[in-house]
Amino acid sequence: MSRPYVLDSSVFIYGVKVSGDVYTVPKVIQELRSVGADVTLQALLNEGLKIESPLEKDVNAVMEKAKSTGDYPRLSPADIDVLAKALQIGGTLVTDDYSVQNVAARLGIETKAIRQERIKRVLTWRHRCVGCGRIYKTETTCPVCGSEVRLKPIKKGAHDSQE
Ligand SMILES: [Zn+2]
Repeated sequence: MSRPYVLDSSVFIYGVKVSGDVYTVPKVIQELRSVGADVTLQALLNEGLKIESPLEKDVNAVMEKAKSTGDYPRLSPADIDVLAKALQIGGTLVTDDYSVQNVAARLGIETKAIRQERIKRVLTWRHRCVGCGRIYKTETTCPVCGSEVRLKPIKKGAHDSQE
């Protein structure tokens, strides 16, 4: 079996499908109920999502580390619990929260971001000359160099960074 995943609220809010051995914590469910985002939750529950509280010792380890990095004031009780759960079971934490990612890194917890992945997949399609690289509005023959103009995906690079 592959490494288990621990999901924070953003997974449910964005409606991303995660399969495999999947966990979350009761405090995430409480957060979700408060924003009414329980559609994906139901789908994941049908596929065996496990909702378990973390162990006290792991919660303490997370709080101690978060205080040392300065992230503690930015973490919700649910954030602390998902970190502690990932620490306990050696899972990959799926989260888009920068503070959670930062504390996870310090604790040796692997993380996987949702939104960043989605942003990396944003491509713009342009008609581009295979010879000189000029961009045109339609597919044609390049009037400058005479090469073929093809539809090419162009990556937008400016949105890859953390917010
Ligand atoms: Zn050209």
